[in-house]
Amino acid sequence: METEKPFDALIIGSGIGGLSTGIILSRLRYRVAVIEKNPLPGGLMRGYSRDGIDCPVGVHYFGAFGESQPLRRMFDYLGVGGALAAERMGQNGPIDRYLFDDFTFDLPEGLDAFAEALESSFPEDYRPIATILGNLCAMADLQNSLSFLSPAIPFLKEDLLLPLSVYLMKMKCTSRLRSVLSVASRWMGLSEQDCPVLYHHLALASYLLSAWRLVGSGADMAEAFVAQLAKRGGSLICNDPAAAILAEGKEVAGLRLASGRVLKASRIVAAVHPKTVLMMLPEGSVKPLQARRIRGFADTESLFVANFAVDARTRPALPHNIYRLHADSEGWIPAGVFYQLRAGGKDRNLLTMITKSSFSEWRRWEGTTTGGRGADYREEKIRRAECLLGKAEEIFGSLAGAKIIDAYTPLTLRDRVNSPCGSPYGVMRSTRQFPAMAVLHRRPLNGLFFAGQNALAPGILGTVMGSFHAVRQMIGQERFDRDVFVKLFAG
Ligand SMILES: Cc1cc2nc3c(=O)[nH]c(=O)nc-3n(C[C@H](O)[C@H](O)[C@H](O)COP(=O)(O)OP(=O)(O)OC[C@H]3O[C@@H](n4cnc5c(N)ncnc54)[C@H](O)[C@@H]3O)c2cc1C
Repeated sequence: METEKPFDALIIGSGIGGLSTGIILSRLRYRVAVIEKNPLPGGLMRGYSRDGIDCPVGVHYFGAFGESQPLRRMFDYLGVGGALAAERMGQNGPIDRYLFDDFTFDLPEGLDAFAEALESSFPEDYRPIATILGNLCAMADLQNSLSFLSPAIPFLKEDLLLPLSVYLMKMKCTSRLRSVLSVASRWMGLSEQDCPVLYHHLALASYLLSAWRLVGSGADMAEAFVAQLAKRGGSLICNDPAAAILAEGKEVAGLRLASGRVLKASRIVAAVHPKTVLMMLPEGSVKPLQARRIRGFADTESLFVANFAVDARTRPALPHNIYRLHADSEGWIPAGVFYQLRAGGKDRNLLTMITKSSFSEWRRWEGTTTGGRGADYREEKIRRAECLLGKAEEIFGSLAGAKIIDAYTPLTLRDRVNSPCGSPYGVMRSTRQFPAMAVLHRRPLNGLFFAGQNALAPGILGTVMGSFHAVRQMIGQERFDRDVFVKLFAG
């Protein structure tokens, strides 16, 4: 077995979580290597190309990237802020259009504009709107000051830890206001009954601060991160999955890769799902109860995604996203479809549709892998995609000539990024699951840290914040403040 000069830290997974952690540590002069199972780095951030059209996977839009806003500060620190071609949404219209069965709501940019839109749409809700806006502004301030990374733990009102549904019922909002506010919980794959108000408000506030779309592809974004890692001296090893975490007693000692290659390090950052990490840990390092808890974690709702090429002359690109939502009598939204109609190049545009689809719906193909699932799987994907296209025609009018270019399922995501049951946003951070998730704070080995979307929060903003959080845990608050935190505000 080959061994080589020890690294200061090894990072498992080259999604935005792993790559950003690698860049921060490299900036601190750690000798790092990021290990990726796939031939190409980037995880969910890297889209793919079909029929000459770039299809996004995990970056449809993101928030808080305006000047001095938290994502921009962190991206600038990582050296990718300037390299990222992104366009600001909501400049001449909404960011999102929510189409309910009996009314429409346009999500504007800005907290004040949001307050005005809510007040004019739901005048009888003026009291809850004032409370909610107060809490949203507080969350926007917390984000802007990056308080979650500062030494002072922010004070959180008790209400912020309630499930969204309980919070909104407590405030006696009308069902329509409940419907509008519920949408943001779906951004993280959570129902209103599961989503803690804290996450909901953080996500909603970030998009109200400013919402952005990539102008280039997800591959360009991934390559911007890869280039910064290389520039800072970090290594990237692709096409060789991490197979086992090696330990000496209670201390991390390194990684064995699937190829048999052994890399030594006294620190490992796992930027992959905790269930994946569990399988890599040496026997006996995790207490049986802790292992049972991790194995039993419920994951976020999985998805079915269909991409169609449409005629650009008859179906021009839209600057906003559309959500078609079906609320129940209480205003909760068990069903809906997300649409994005983007420029696809030349005379074609890309219509992306995303809807919920549980892993169990695809269980018959569970034992198969991408590319080898057979004709019946392909037929089922096409059937569902065509069904979605039919629904899309109710919004966009005739889509005759639309050509399916790709569709993917929870199985695709499972195989692509090792996400158990194809969960798009990892472990479900529900109020119900909070107590069980405390096991993740008890590290089974000294020198093992968690990053990625499961560390702190999902989404681009949450995941990158999780990378800074992981580094803070590794180097300690004092050094973090001196060498990282102040530099986030260095202009
Ligand atoms: C369909 C979809 C749409 C989304 N849309 C948005 C959006 O519009 N806006 C937004 O903010 N967020 C969105 N998200 C969420 C966002 O993409 C994720 O929160 C974020 O990309 C997660 O990054 P990560 O680094 O934690 O994980 P990943 O990107 O999953 O990275 C994990 C990496 O680890 C690798 N890996 C796994 N196991 C091993 C192993 N054993 N050895 C080595 N490597 C391994 C994987 O191959 C992968 O590259 C979306 C997600 C999905 C699925």
